[in-house]
Amino acid sequence: MNIPIEPTASCAQTLDRNDPLAPFRDRFHLLPDTIYMDGNSLGLLSKEAEASLLATLETWKKRGVNGWFEGDGAWLDSAGQIGGLSAGMMGAAPDQVVHSATVTVNIHALLASFYQPRDRRVKILADELNFPTDIYALKGQLAIRGRSVAEDLVFAPSTDGRTLDEDTIAAMFTDEIAVAWLPSVLYRSGQLLDMAYLTRQAHARGILIGFDCCHSAGIVPHELDRWGVDFAVWCGYKYLNSGPGGSAFLYVNRRHFAREPVLTGWFGNRRETMFDMSHEFEAGSGAGRWQISSPGILGSSTLRGSLALINEAGIDNIRAKSLAMTGYLMALLDEHLAGPPYDFKVGTPREARRRGGHVAVERAVAAGGVCDALIARGVVPDFRPPNVIRICPSPLYGTFDEIWQTVTHLKAIIAGGEHLAAR
Ligand SMILES: *Cc1c(COP(=O)(O)O)cnc(C)c1O
Repeated sequence: MNIPIEPTASCAQTLDRNDPLAPFRDRFHLLPDTIYMDGNSLGLLSKEAEASLLATLETWKKRGVNGWFEGDGAWLDSAGQIGGLSAGMMGAAPDQVVHSATVTVNIHALLASFYQPRDRRVKILADELNFPTDIYALKGQLAIRGRSVAEDLVFAPSTDGRTLDEDTIAAMFTDEIAVAWLPSVLYRSGQLLDMAYLTRQAHARGILIGFDCCHSAGIVPHELDRWGVDFAVWCGYKYLNSGPGGSAFLYVNRRHFAREPVLTGWFGNRRETMFDMSHEFEAGSGAGRWQISSPGILGSSTLRGSLALINEAGIDNIRAKSLAMTGYLMALLDEHLAGPPYDFKVGTPREARRRGGHVAVERAVAAGGVCDALIARGVVPDFRPPNVIRICPSPLYGTFDEIWQTVTHLKAIIAGGEHLAAR
């Protein structure tokens, strides 16, 4: 789509008419009379995901326990197969990705193997803006090793409270850092970090680096293998539309396949011997050895349909439309809502290479009230206190016209004082 972005209603119509992904909208269950701008928190249900869940129920109904062993989608191989469906969009070879557990559990599982404090190299580097559950996991990992959180967990600072600077982070890659754990896209501001650069810098100083890709998987193309990232995690329920909670992936670079998992469980054992029921753990092949428990087959079954749909659309096409959508949204905010009495401000970096799939719309006063008023008008964004409304247009099921309407609603809310009545 090489259509110039202009802050007008007619531009939305031109963009929608020329949108190669427009046919995908019909393949989702849209909420009636709702403009859904929250796919970065919980993506909507596609008809494909629904069908794959129903097919799994049917298998259970017809085959009982034999579902684990029979047929193409035998549940025993399910985690690897679903991992393989997510591998291409992450730039990973299929055996380096496995569907497993939940994000936080996977962070623990990977850090348990990859954080090996030794001599001077004892610290973990994260950042001030990181997602709370990641930090809780890092602190837990330090506590398990008997290390001091105050001394051994180092935070790269943010000067503006929104963004991180890659050079500032790289300057903290000292010979005391064992592992760096960073976000791909920051959950609040939507900043996309330069993962290739950070990985090069970390490796040049002998540091292992992992990324939490929850806010970029399914919306931004990745090159985990080419960048040489050591390990990563992401969830299924945001841009991958797998349904509420409990579904995640982990990536381990091939050069670490000989590493032993530490948070071991029977699903990480070699398939050939897992039912021998021996007390000796034999690590399985590839990233699969970091699995712990039997995967939730029903919960993860939606991913077969939803990932097939995303692969059909193509991650590069998804990214192109996402950038056009967020670019259009920011242009509208600048043109129509920046000055008084509106006073909205974009907290997301402007450059395409520095932003993910959502836009952080900031308002110093009554941002929570604005968010409530939007919901009352049938627009679903989400709110991150104290002042950020996250707006996330979906390239698969959203339209440019919905972005125009969202901005029109914002304008009417302020003009009518609805944000002061709400909350
Ligand atoms: C959504 C998200 C999680 C979720 O963790 P769960 O363990 O799956 O609940 C973790 N980290 C980040 C950065 C997220 O965006």
